[in-house]
Amino acid sequence: MRITALNATPVAVPYRADEVWAFGRRRGQVSVLLEVTTDEGVTGLGEAAGYPSADVVLAVLRGLEPLVLGADPTEIEKLVRRIDLVGTWHHVRATSPAIAAVEMACWDIVGKVCGQPLVTLLGGRFREEVEFFYYVAAGAPEEVAAEARRGRAAGFGTFYLKVGADEQSIDIARVAALRDGAGPEALLRVDANEAWSPGTAVRMIRELARFGLELVEQPVSGRNLAELGYVRSRVDVPLLANEASWTRYDQLAVIRAGAADALSADNQLDGGLLNLKRSAGLCEAAGLPVVKHSLGELGVALAAAVHVIAATPNFRYANQGYAALLADDVTTGFGGGVESCRDGRVAVPRGPGLGVTLDPDRVARYAELHRREGATFAFHDPAALAGAPALPKR
Ligand SMILES: [Mg+2]
Repeated sequence: MRITALNATPVAVPYRADEVWAFGRRRGQVSVLLEVTTDEGVTGLGEAAGYPSADVVLAVLRGLEPLVLGADPTEIEKLVRRIDLVGTWHHVRATSPAIAAVEMACWDIVGKVCGQPLVTLLGGRFREEVEFFYYVAAGAPEEVAAEARRGRAAGFGTFYLKVGADEQSIDIARVAALRDGAGPEALLRVDANEAWSPGTAVRMIRELARFGLELVEQPVSGRNLAELGYVRSRVDVPLLANEASWTRYDQLAVIRAGAADALSADNQLDGGLLNLKRSAGLCEAAGLPVVKHSLGELGVALAAAVHVIAATPNFRYANQGYAALLADDVTTGFGGGVESCRDGRVAVPRGPGLGVTLDPDRVARYAELHRREGATFAFHDPAALAGAPALPKR
C-alpha cells in the first residue's frame, strides 16, 4: 500500500464563549483536517490544530509531500523517522501538529486495514471511557459560576479555569465563583500558563488553596525547572507541568528534576500518537500520572487521543478537552460539544481505525467560515496586543 495524496482542509469552528488565557483570547477553533489517500482505496483521517497558525500547518504539509507520497502508511515508525531525520524536521517544534496529523491518518488506515479500532492495536481497552474536564471560560465571576453550574448539570467532575489575570483579585474572585458553581465535590484545576514569578506563585497557590484545588498547572516558567521545583517545595497543592513538558525530552527533564507531581503530554506537540504513548511510559516509569494536553481539537483529533488514553493505564486525571467551549463539530456522531460526553466521559469509538467519519456539510460550512473569517479566529486579541505583555506578569 502506498500513500498517493495529502488533502488538507482548514476549518474554523466557533466557541460558545471566548477562550481567555493569561495573554489573550480566541473566538473559536481552527483545525486543519487531513485526508491521506492510498493506492488501495483506503483513506485515513487526521487533524492538526492550527498551531501556531493554519498557514504554518498547510506549509508543513506541502513540505512533507516529497517525504510521504509513495510511502507505506502501515510502516509508521519508519515513516516518522523518514520525516524527522531525512527531512530534518525533528528540531522544529512548530512542524509537529502537521506531522502528527499525518501519523494520525496512518493509524486510521492501519485500523481500517485490520478491521480493528485503534485502541485494540495500542494495547486494548484499559478503560471503556475517557474522562475530560469541563473548560470554564474565564469571565466575570457570575459568568464563571454559571458556566460551572452548566458543567455540573452535565455531570462533569473536574473543572478547569485559566488564572494569571492582570489583577490577582480577579483570579481569586473567579476561583471562588468556580467553587460556588461547581459544588463542594468538584475537582478544580487552574492553569496560570507561566504567568507568575515563583514568589507570586507560592502566595497565589496558598491563597487559592482554601477553595480546594486538585492541581495547579504551570504556575511559573516552563523553561527553568528550578522555578517549578521551588514552588513545588513550598505548596501543598500538586503541580502539573505543561509548558515545561512539551516533548518527551522535556518530560524526562521534569522527571529528573522532580519538578512536578503530574505531567502533560500531547501527540500534536510531539509528533504523534506513538510518542504520546511513549510519554505516558516515561511517566509510568517515574511513578507519575500523565494528562493529555490539548491545543484545541475537533472530533477527529479527539477520537485519536481517546484511543490512546483508553489503552494506557496512567492517564488517571481528567484530560484537557474543549467540549465545554465548542459550539459544533465536523464529525458524524462523535465529538463536538458537551452532548458527546456522559458525565464528562467520552466513549471509545468502536469502528475500525479512529472510528469517526467527517460530516461533509459541516466541513464545507466551517471551511467557508475559515476562508471568510479565519484570521479573526487566531490568538490575536486586540486588547492584549495593545498592552505590554511580559513573562512573568509579576
Ligand atoms: Mg496548560
